[in-house]
Amino acid sequence: MPRPILATVHTAALRNNLERVRRSALDARVWAVVKANAYGHGIERVYEGLRGADGFALLDLAEAERVRALGWRGPVLLLEGVFDARDLELCSRLDLWHTVHCDEQIDMLAAHKTLKPQRVFLKMNSGMNRLGFTPERFGSAWTRLNALTQVDEISLMTHFSDADGARGIAHQLQAFERATRDLPGERSIANSAATLRHADQTRGDWVRPGIVLYGSAPDFPLHDAAHWQLQPTMTLSTQLLSVQTLKAGDTIGYGSNFTAEGPLTIGVAAVGYADGYPRHCNTGTPVLVNGVRTRMVGRVSMDMITVDLTPVPDAKFGAEVTLWGRSAATGAVLPIDEVAQAAGTVGYELMCAVAQRVPFAAP
Ligand code: PLP
Repeated sequence: MPRPILATVHTAALRNNLERVRRSALDARVWAVVKANAYGHGIERVYEGLRGADGFALLDLAEAERVRALGWRGPVLLLEGVFDARDLELCSRLDLWHTVHCDEQIDMLAAHKTLKPQRVFLKMNSGMNRLGFTPERFGSAWTRLNALTQVDEISLMTHFSDADGARGIAHQLQAFERATRDLPGERSIANSAATLRHADQTRGDWVRPGIVLYGSAPDFPLHDAAHWQLQPTMTLSTQLLSVQTLKAGDTIGYGSNFTAEGPLTIGVAAVGYADGYPRHCNTGTPVLVNGVRTRMVGRVSMDMITVDLTPVPDAKFGAEVTLWGRSAATGAVLPIDEVAQAAGTVGYELMCAVAQRVPFAAP
């Protein structure tokens, strides 16, 4: 038998979260962002739950091919466009929509004289300072693109740096609106946080949610997933493979950084940093055992963690351990955002970092 660790993707939760996005997006169409292998879930595993979206947005041509292989005939958007002119043929064959964020990408399109007309999202750098034309250069980029026979419709896009935080969206929104006022074309500006928190100002023609589709709150810890009616789409679970009884003064694991103050029963769970469970988690990180909330104690090892069994004294070898997601034993939920916070990171990273050696449950 394999180790008991298992990742499970919840189709009904994906549908719920997409529906939640639609309640904010209203008539705007929804790009379901499935880059990074659907935030670690697996494109094929999320397809059933997200096929009610209007399009799929991603980065890799290989991922675009997988979406087409699933039978999806609707829009597919390359969020960073092409890296190499040789990719244009395949993009055209897969009928992809391109993001164009730099002059070099316009050069590639211009140089391909026989390319059939492509749908393009022209991207503005309105303050994120990663990709896109500045507001000052946006109009001239649009004019250049518009003159190409290789370009069909031009839509307009920008991306927020702080839709989930204190700085907000006003400065970027203003820059985008001012520079695009006289340009035709559909608009796409909202990521997850903007879609849920600033819908009225940002929904445009297309929203581009990623993380909320996977059940993470975009503004945790200000709000949690339950506040936004989001459900976890991934459960990472395992089992206890040992139970140990400690006495006062005993320590646990490498570094001996946890010392029992009195008698303590601990469970050893079959998960470690080699599975993608973050090594930055430490004593206090929440864990469910048999669906009951308890805490990790000591350090994360490569293949094991140790948990305090005080709230679940009956837990034995084989007891269910939920690292994040939903307990099959009780239905209790441990939000991935809480575990991420304990590790000093975000739910995005944990989802994307589930290791190759972790099997996924069959759908
Ligand atoms: N749009 C673009 C251009 C992105 O790069 C991303 C992700 O980083 C998203 C949308 C989705 O963001 P989120 O997962 O925060 O909704």
